[in-house]
Amino acid sequence: MPVYSNSRLQTYENCPQQFKLKYIDRIKPPEGEEGIEAFLGTRVHDVLEKLYKELILTKLNPLEDLLEFYRTEWDKNWHENVVVVKKNFNKDHYYHTGIEAITNYYKRHHPFSQSKTLSTEHLVTFKIEDYSIQGYIDRLSHVGDGVYEIHDYKTSGFLPAQDKLDSDRQLALYQIGIKEKFRDAKDIYLKWHYLVFDKEFTSTRSDAQLKDLKKEVLSLIKTIEKDQSFKPVESNLCDWCEFDLYCPAKKHEIKVQDLPRNKHLKERGVSLVNHYASVKSKIRRLQDEAQQLQLELDLIEEAAIEYARNEEVTTITGSDYALRISEKMAYQFPRSNEEGREELEQFVKKAGIWEDVSGLNLARLQKCIDDEELDKKIRDRLLKFAEEIEKINVRLVKKREEE
Ligand code: SF4
Repeated sequence: MPVYSNSRLQTYENCPQQFKLKYIDRIKPPEGEEGIEAFLGTRVHDVLEKLYKELILTKLNPLEDLLEFYRTEWDKNWHENVVVVKKNFNKDHYYHTGIEAITNYYKRHHPFSQSKTLSTEHLVTFKIEDYSIQGYIDRLSHVGDGVYEIHDYKTSGFLPAQDKLDSDRQLALYQIGIKEKFRDAKDIYLKWHYLVFDKEFTSTRSDAQLKDLKKEVLSLIKTIEKDQSFKPVESNLCDWCEFDLYCPAKKHEIKVQDLPRNKHLKERGVSLVNHYASVKSKIRRLQDEAQQLQLELDLIEEAAIEYARNEEVTTITGSDYALRISEKMAYQFPRSNEEGREELEQFVKKAGIWEDVSGLNLARLQKCIDDEELDKKIRDRLLKFAEEIEKINVRLVKKREEE
């Protein structure tokens, strides 16, 4: 039975394909490449870990020593494959962000007596039914009298809203583990330190909320375990994805992106897409033209009807063709979405003639099946009428702007 963690669950929610490549296929990402945000995060975490770990044994490092440790660790770990994706930012911007974050944190909390640190990088494990959940708490501390704090350090460049944190899953999961481990835990506070902004947030969870969370997580795990297709979900996160080389949605792009222009255009896939796009655009042009021509035809029809009335004829003769004009009275009922349609449908149903005039909408039926909206028994019986076929959909999409 695999072990789940918040980051695994989040990976699946962001992109099921990435989850598959990382945790099921266990593909090793190409060596070396690392986003500078992650690099900065690790360096700052290391400093705070040193600070609190040594505080457990009463050693209080001066700020200067911690900054020196940060500088040494930064230089020691820096490698040429640390990538700065953000335009107009460089290594120094991130380096100084770390210095400022540590300094502000230190000054705000010195002499660090707000609570007693129990451990750093604290492994928490627990079970939801048969599934094991685990995670690492940046810092676990005890305020006294059964009051615990779960601390999480963030170096991200954006601040979340309080309500986001009030529904955050990661620390709430840790709370479940801590409650199980420390039987004296009466109150547990979840604390986020947004170091770049020198801002802190606190939240709590009730027993009822934790119970609901367990249910949600269980349902998500079951969805993951049922998944057969692990669809790639493209988003901005692809820029940081280490598996694009293996991802069916991205690997062709990676394969052709550095080809010289003449080779790029000749590559079979590129030429197929270009040809497809050009035919599709021709179709669109022709459809626009057809629409214009239809408008013209409607106008000619109106003129011909008027002509026939004036001349009191039912046929107008041209060079090779003739126009026959016949008049008869007909009824026009409101179309769907038109006023009166709903009342009409209700009346038809009441009158008991619905079955005589309505037809089965297969597209809607398919949607009900896909959305799993139907009662399972009905769905199963309906599916007995259907033949399972492989349906492949080809869709032309615009590449993202920066590409
Ligand atoms: S490149 Fe994008 S779509 Fe592909 S696995 Fe990574 S995140 Fe998912």
